Amino acid sequence: MIIDIALLTRICEAPGAPGFEKEIRKLVLTELEGLADDIRVDNMGNVVALKKGKSSAKKTMVAAHMDEIGFIVTHIDDQGFVRFNPVGGFDPKTLTSQRVIIHGRKDLMGVMGSKPVHLMSPEERNKVVKITDYFIDTGLPQKEVIKVVAVGDFVTRHSPLIELGDCVNVKSLDNRASVFVLIETLRALKKSKRKPAYDFYAVFTVQEEVGLRGAQASAIQIQPDFGFGLDTTIAYDVPGSSPQERCTSLGGGAAIKLMDSSVICDYRMVAFMKATAKRRKIKWQPEILSGGGTDTASLQRMVAGGSITGAVSIPTRHIHQTIESCHKEDLAACINLLAACVCELDQHDWAF
Ligand SMILES: [Zn+2]
Repeated sequence: MIIDIALLTRICEAPGAPGFEKEIRKLVLTELEGLADDIRVDNMGNVVALKKGKSSAKKTMVAAHMDEIGFIVTHIDDQGFVRFNPVGGFDPKTLTSQRVIIHGRKDLMGVMGSKPVHLMSPEERNKVVKITDYFIDTGLPQKEVIKVVAVGDFVTRHSPLIELGDCVNVKSLDNRASVFVLIETLRALKKSKRKPAYDFYAVFTVQEEVGLRGAQASAIQIQPDFGFGLDTTIAYDVPGSSPQERCTSLGGGAAIKLMDSSVICDYRMVAFMKATAKRRKIKWQPEILSGGGTDTASLQRMVAGGSITGAVSIPTRHIHQTIESCHKEDLAACINLLAACVCELDQHDWAF
């Protein structure tokens, strides 16, 4: 499968901090045209695309969050430096000298500044800079900054997509890689004229990075029988990691989640996903993530009586840092696995 780099670039480069998903939502709605039987946006801003299944007796919901970790402007000082709070969990050590975009009355570029190493005391040099020590330098004086920027404006990272060996490298692969996989899954179903087993709700959720909020609202409305979370996961397959810390490896295939700190995936779903991967000759790897959660938890629990839920995870290096990497073959494996799973749910014995 050829990965549509142009589409992935558009999706990753669109801004959308939690609660400010306007731009990425607009793009998702455009890309979804003609791929589903019904497309709507709920009150909270989740995009819900319904593709009718062979049967409407049950519902399948897949959730991929559209939001990305970002920042919100809290203060502009007398010199025009912009202070901010993070929105979502950032690794502060990766922010030094990074370019960001302040989404004010118009977009304004800035750079994350902190104290130069030359001026740091020996103790300061050995300490990690705190997120509160950073400021955004726009190169403009206060009177110019306040014409464009106000408290409450959101800020995202500026990092264009590059192809890096067999990988792609860009900001926000968490979770735009999944937004891409979900759109490509719908495209693959259309192209191959395969029908989902049951009515298939492809949901592009908001505010995951601050606590799975959009997925909760969406699952409560849809009440799925089957749920799939779709998100990135840690690939710590790098120098200094021990085998038990790796979680997943880049190029190791689609990750089938067993558990993370928010969810224990239904063992029937895990068995179904493994069997589907094997039958379809799709490369896969197991994922157990000791920290962090995803929309999967909302899919499982925000349904009366619960739903039968699992997750497809995309191995990602440098996650929650300023730039992230995914392997193109893993993206293809995730599209193939998700498409096969939603189409073949009716061929499995779901008895406990
Ligand atoms: Zn995520």
